[in-house]
Amino acid sequence: MKKHPIDMNLTVLGSSSRGNGYVIQDDEEALIIEAGVSLAKAKQALGFNVSKVAGVLISHSHGDHAKYATDYQKVFQLYTHKNVIDTVGLTKVHELQPERNYRVGNFRVHPVPANHDVPCYAFHISHPKLGNLLFVTDSFMFEYSFDNLNHILIECNYVDKVINDNVENNITHYKVRDRVLMSHMELQTTIRTLSYQDLTKVDNIVLLHLSGDNSDPELMQRTVARQFGRPVAIAKPGLEVSISINPY
Ligand SMILES: [Zn+2]
Repeated sequence: MKKHPIDMNLTVLGSSSRGNGYVIQDDEEALIIEAGVSLAKAKQALGFNVSKVAGVLISHSHGDHAKYATDYQKVFQLYTHKNVIDTVGLTKVHELQPERNYRVGNFRVHPVPANHDVPCYAFHISHPKLGNLLFVTDSFMFEYSFDNLNHILIECNYVDKVINDNVENNITHYKVRDRVLMSHMELQTTIRTLSYQDLTKVDNIVLLHLSGDNSDPELMQRTVARQFGRPVAIAKPGLEVSISINPY
């Protein structure tokens, strides 16, 4: 008798400037997004079954997304932007071109440009067991819309009012705010970006990369859930979400 594989699952290893890492897996296959969390923690989330990992996608070169890429390339197949390859000095890696399709195991990966202060990719990911997933991080805006999505992982970094209050109260420097405004996604931009996606079949919205000082997790979760009537989770280390495709 064949053992029934566990559902497709998302495990969040980290989702902030302290380090980003996401594992998508069932019993048989896995895809990792970002290499900003130690290899040891990734292995632990995989139950030490590293051979089932089809590949690791890295969105951009910043340390909180790519710090451990040199460790990861010793164990996994890496897929990323040329800027990451050059900046980090990777040698064993697949270079991704925008708006092309790549087969990574049974995952189909379609990178599209995001809008950060270094070259950055968002990823549309398909797999027979999870359907279609959109992953967008570190992008102050996002122009693409996709049909037939089942899961969305999207940055929701800060709230305008919170960051402005923090600048006024000397918690956040105005130069930091100016950089954040041109590199990370504000709550209303997250909502606008979601509003032009096809949400008909979306089972999960996971909000990524919340700022420590300039976010408001409860407000963000409540606002997005109310707007779209879908389950909304805030990504934090240890969060697990079932992302199997809903057959109905
Ligand atoms: Zn970044």
